[in-house]
Amino acid sequence: MKTQYHLLCLLFLMSFHLFSLEPSLKIQLWAPDQPVDILIYNPNNRPIDLPQPYTPATIPEVYGQEIEESQIEAVAQHMDYRKTEFVAAVGNNVSFSITFNDGEGEGFFDRNLGRARRDAFRFAANIWAQNLQGPAEISVQATMTPRGGDQASAVLASAGAGQFWRNFNNAPIKDVQYPECLVEIISGKDPDTKTFEINVDFNSDVDENDVLGTRGFYYGTDGSNGNDFDFVTITLHELTHGLGFVHSFKPNGTHGLDGFMIIYDHFLVNRFGQRLTTLTASPINVTGNNVFWGGLLGLYAFNNDFGGTGGLPIHSPTPWVNGSSISHLDETTFTGDWELMTPNNDGDVDHEPDTIVLGILQDIGYSLPRSRYVNTNATGFEDGSCANPFNTVIEALHSVPANGFVRIFPGTYKEKLTINKSVEVRSCGGIAVIGIQ
Ligand SMILES: [Zn+2]
Repeated sequence: MKTQYHLLCLLFLMSFHLFSLEPSLKIQLWAPDQPVDILIYNPNNRPIDLPQPYTPATIPEVYGQEIEESQIEAVAQHMDYRKTEFVAAVGNNVSFSITFNDGEGEGFFDRNLGRARRDAFRFAANIWAQNLQGPAEISVQATMTPRGGDQASAVLASAGAGQFWRNFNNAPIKDVQYPECLVEIISGKDPDTKTFEINVDFNSDVDENDVLGTRGFYYGTDGSNGNDFDFVTITLHELTHGLGFVHSFKPNGTHGLDGFMIIYDHFLVNRFGQRLTTLTASPINVTGNNVFWGGLLGLYAFNNDFGGTGGLPIHSPTPWVNGSSISHLDETTFTGDWELMTPNNDGDVDHEPDTIVLGILQDIGYSLPRSRYVNTNATGFEDGSCANPFNTVIEALHSVPANGFVRIFPGTYKEKLTINKSVEVRSCGGIAVIGIQ
């Protein structure tokens, strides 16, 4: 049975600008002067020896080289919105290909613990695969390295995204660096199959009694970690960084990777709502608990699901902490089910990304499973993904699978709709109203 609804609106934009390719695409490997992320156990904020800058394993010859434009094929340059089979960023869930890169008898191939470690890591990767959609097989390198520590504090793990790209096919924002997994999802093509998209390294010393005493990693997948550190939770945390929960700011307040902001940088604001990327660089901008998330979906989840007020606080202590500042949620605000992305793990168990984390990932361009996104203000390439939403609801209804989700950004719409399948309409911030004049 068909039901007709009238969507009400003040504004209706219909425009299809074809994406034009930039003259060149530049490959940019992540080579920070600090680790991208460090997850620690350090309850008393004692001075702690952080690991040396993390160098992701890559194919050396591609460092700094220009990549031929032809290596990224145009997936849907002349896409007609009715031809949803050309949709690039929506459809299947992402998958992960994991390379455990330790020597025989070491780390993930330890004779006693290796299998349990690998199984726990795969379990965590599968959680992310269930929560994100896109035509991507995300390549991950996982290693375990002795990194020391003492009885009271230690680094648990660290991670980084392998490469960042800008101005790729269907890039939502010009001159902004995107992590490679997101590039693969948005453009429909892995721009470089020779490098890992995510690198994760764990401190194998945590399982030794001279580091954090008898506490070690817990490799079960049931969350019954007791006094130990839940390996699934930590893997989930690190993979989130690799997906793009990462910034390019320095302690002096400057930012940029090869002179261009990372997409995560774009959504950081101060307590006055000013974008950090637009401010004159100053250490004050990135310390003093003065950093907040300004992205719509992360903020909406913070206010409506978490019950927060004011800005969504990003970890920005004084003094600055390498590998920890800015790339985490505030440690003190978020507890329990909400602390997957805080910088300090004191034995927390989080086996599902919370809606704030999912909101932040959607803000930077990821899409949730079985979802089509609508933003009437959208221009340019559109495929119904969060990064490149449709600008009419009818396109989303046509494209969305039965029992899927149509997620509508704030705005006003005037469309005559025929809904002939079961779908759930949700808002991306605010309330979606259908059929009221
Ligand atoms: Zn972290």
